[in-house]
Amino acid sequence: MSRHFSSLLAIACVAVTLTPTAAQAKPVEEVDCTQVKCIALTFDDGPGQYAGTLLDTLKKYNAKATFFLEGQYVKARPAFAKRMAVEGHELGNHSYKHPNFTTLEAPAIRSEIKKTQDIVKQVAGVEPKLLRPPYGMADIETSDIAAEFGMPMILWTAGSRDWATKNEAEIKKQTLEVAKENGIILMHDWVKQTVDAMPSIVRTLQSRGYHLVTVSTLVKQYNLQPGDIFPVPEGWEK
Ligand SMILES: [Zn+2]
Repeated sequence: MSRHFSSLLAIACVAVTLTPTAAQAKPVEEVDCTQVKCIALTFDDGPGQYAGTLLDTLKKYNAKATFFLEGQYVKARPAFAKRMAVEGHELGNHSYKHPNFTTLEAPAIRSEIKKTQDIVKQVAGVEPKLLRPPYGMADIETSDIAAEFGMPMILWTAGSRDWATKNEAEIKKQTLEVAKENGIILMHDWVKQTVDAMPSIVRTLQSRGYHLVTVSTLVKQYNLQPGDIFPVPEGWEK
């Protein structure tokens, strides 16, 4: 075999190997949380005014997060919502104006959810697959309505208490203290000190072996159904 022919063959092999890979769109999430250590950071009530800085940090460390958005702020800050989607984060539904669903009649709950689904889809091009009821307050009626929308309800395993302390060192300390495998951590991108603490929090979690993933990636292992609530709160009966 001439040298020319063998190098042509080598090129052909490379082309055959690479072409199908290059042609496939890269999946957004490849992490399997049954195989590696995962944690999901969640940011509520946004897009908050500091979302841009937060997104820069997440991008820098290749970390994914979930944003439980209020429709009213998606309308006010559409560019942030769009950027969240483009950069591979998850956009969840956190109502339109943050009422306590357990005090509302069914049509009002439906309207809060629907308006937020619509505005997120309009500005970010994606439809939220998860619902986080405001204040984490839900009852059977909320669950039934979530099921109508095809969404499970996602609460949290622990909070950063950022809204209460508004102190960068405290937020970091609390978050790292409550962080655990398959944890879902409640935070807020309208708390400046949270966003300031994020580079250090992300670096520390990653150095402890955590993959920072979206909630959907994390809960895939639990096979949640529409209307389910996770984690199941104490006293919850269905
Ligand atoms: Zn909230």
